[in-house]
Amino acid sequence: MVLSAQREPLELRELPEPEPGPGQIRLRVRACGLCRTDLHVVDGDLPHPKLPLVPGHQVVGEADDGRRLGVPWLGWTDGTCRYCTRGRENLCEHARFTGYDLDGGYADYVVADERYCLPIPDGYSDLDAAPLLCAGLVGYRALRLAGDAERLGLYGFGASAHIVAQVARHQGRRMFGFVRPGDEEGRAFALELGCEWAGWSDELPPERLDAAIVFAPVGALVPAALAALARGGSVVCAGIHMSDIPSFPYELLWEERSVRSVANLTRRDGEEFLALAPQVPVRAEIEVFPLEDANAALDRMRAGGVRGAAVLRL
Ligand SMILES: [Zn+2]
Ligand SMILES: [Zn+2]
Repeated sequence: MVLSAQREPLELRELPEPEPGPGQIRLRVRACGLCRTDLHVVDGDLPHPKLPLVPGHQVVGEADDGRRLGVPWLGWTDGTCRYCTRGRENLCEHARFTGYDLDGGYADYVVADERYCLPIPDGYSDLDAAPLLCAGLVGYRALRLAGDAERLGLYGFGASAHIVAQVARHQGRRMFGFVRPGDEEGRAFALELGCEWAGWSDELPPERLDAAIVFAPVGALVPAALAALARGGSVVCAGIHMSDIPSFPYELLWEERSVRSVANLTRRDGEEFLALAPQVPVRAEIEVFPLEDANAALDRMRAGGVRGAAVLRL
């Protein structure tokens, strides 16, 4: 499924089998998860994707030698810039991202730099493993950046939050879920996943939070989450794109509260999270679509209709 121009639907096309370049391997794609970032690429919120582009950066594939590998968002880094050499390759100045700068997994085959591929843990089917590769991984990084917060707020209960909630519960944290006002199904889902309280995103929780992770791409949630924080708490913005954050009184930030973003992932995040996932064990709820229904799947995600994560089957 190919994106020829942003703000246009993807097209089903016959492409030549991609040839691996130096350091790359070719994978037969078995499953590819959909991510909100794919929507931002298709909808034009993120500028200058490779065009034409095969989207998709939660790719589970099989190498010629039978190994099952995952291709995540971080597809290549220079290894030499001031970020790469200081253990922060997620911030590499020349990074290339799968399904954005590089063709991704909405296809039968993908080529990827082997150094950035991640081994898929046993015990997960191809479809079940796909959402771990971004919703899980980047969610895990956001959770780590939330520090040792005991009372954790989660804003927006999509693919990422539903995985992070399982990890946070495993770590013994107390969780408070926030969903779109009136979204009763979302609220019930948050409670099922172990939140001790779930309510609307414009409400205050019964207790102040030590940290809040904002998954929804809605800037107005940042001051709302700040208002719910205890002293010294932090708001972690987990998405790659957000609508503008409205201005707010300094009082909301006072007492050492902070707001920060999470960008991309490092290979270390990937290794850590994929080692942790089977111990929790993380079980993603998935809705499966055939490859040619990728547009319908994206529409469903855009409308907030997916419970858990959407995955393409190949
Ligand atoms: Zn770099
Ligand atoms: Zn993603």
